Amino acid sequence: MSSPASSRPSAFSRLSTALLQWIDSDHTPDGPDRMRNEPDRVDWIRCIPFIVLHLGCLGVIWTGASAFAIGAAIVLYVVRMFAVTGIYHRYFSHKTYSTSRVGQFLLALWGGTTVQRGALWWAYHHRHHHQHSDEPEDAHSPHVHGFWWSHIGWITSRRNFPTDYSTIKDLAKYPELVWLNRFDTVVPLAFALAIFGLGAALETWAPSLGTDRWQMLVWGFFVSTTFLFHGTSCINSMAHLMGRRRFNTSDDSRNSFILAVICLGEGWHNNHHRYQSSTRNGFYWWEIDPTYYGLKMLSWTGLIWGLKPVPKSIMEEAARADHQASIVAAQHAQHAHAALSPLKKVVPAAAAIAVATATSSQVALPQKAEGPAIHKDVTEQAEHGAKQNPPPRGV
Ligand SMILES: [Zn+2]
Ligand SMILES: [Zn+2]
Repeated sequence: MSSPASSRPSAFSRLSTALLQWIDSDHTPDGPDRMRNEPDRVDWIRCIPFIVLHLGCLGVIWTGASAFAIGAAIVLYVVRMFAVTGIYHRYFSHKTYSTSRVGQFLLALWGGTTVQRGALWWAYHHRHHHQHSDEPEDAHSPHVHGFWWSHIGWITSRRNFPTDYSTIKDLAKYPELVWLNRFDTVVPLAFALAIFGLGAALETWAPSLGTDRWQMLVWGFFVSTTFLFHGTSCINSMAHLMGRRRFNTSDDSRNSFILAVICLGEGWHNNHHRYQSSTRNGFYWWEIDPTYYGLKMLSWTGLIWGLKPVPKSIMEEAARADHQASIVAAQHAQHAHAALSPLKKVVPAAAAIAVATATSSQVALPQKAEGPAIHKDVTEQAEHGAKQNPPPRGV
């Protein structure tokens, strides 16, 4: 499929390559290694479908809105955000639970409706992010490349298009997954067509809903998918900038309630960077994690099983970190409010003690029984290789 080339390809060659890559994302005439080693460069032709996705939102000018179409956009955002977080992230990238081969294929199809390329491309980039977080090799670190590049720019760069199958051998051994990854426009196009068809059916059989085929396509596909993309990208651009750091990981990952709401629990990013193999990213009941709740419910159907808990040692580490943070907060309150009334000194200290007490009680919680795992723990391997004794950073 690839041939050696010693000189820079012509404009025509680059054009034809970009067009072919719309259909076959593994089409790399010079080889994927050479492409990955290029400097960052926006491939505008390759990005035309991505630009069209955004421009499609302007269709609301002509189709107008209806309560049903807006509701469909919201539901499809939530259902597909769950696919990004619960399937592409917590299954394909980290294998935090198990499923059958048929179940895995169904999950990959569901993930494909997110229009965030194939599961293998997604997992390859994400594992790479964990191995090189906030280092120059990290494709979407806001600290290295800036906010906009980490949010949207890196997606458009030619060097980030190929999938490095050699780094995801546990997934690349399944030809059905490789096929879905290679022809990664098939599922999104089928999904868009299904939304359009649903709109046509409602137009005919439920005219009282006030929607039609084009309105459903614009809201259910273009608007919902564009919001889904930017919601997901907030993790790349903001989860290493916004929020608090519980663990002194070697990157700058943070925990953010706002991002947890937008991304169904992915906002507990510092927790996740500390321990990637757990099915849940929210370590405490008050760290809301709708993706975990959804996966738990999915496990009751038998489609998935073997959800991995947070180990006791990590929970103890979290309790110690929270306890230490509460002492720092109490000392800060004492110094900062020295001139204020005694009540204003007591309240922050009491709050700090309450947090420390609550987190300490978590340490003694028993671990859940782990189901039989059918996969090797890929994330722990990555953790071992990349992050030994991380240097401390500011909390
Ligand atoms: Zn991850
Ligand atoms: Zn991260």
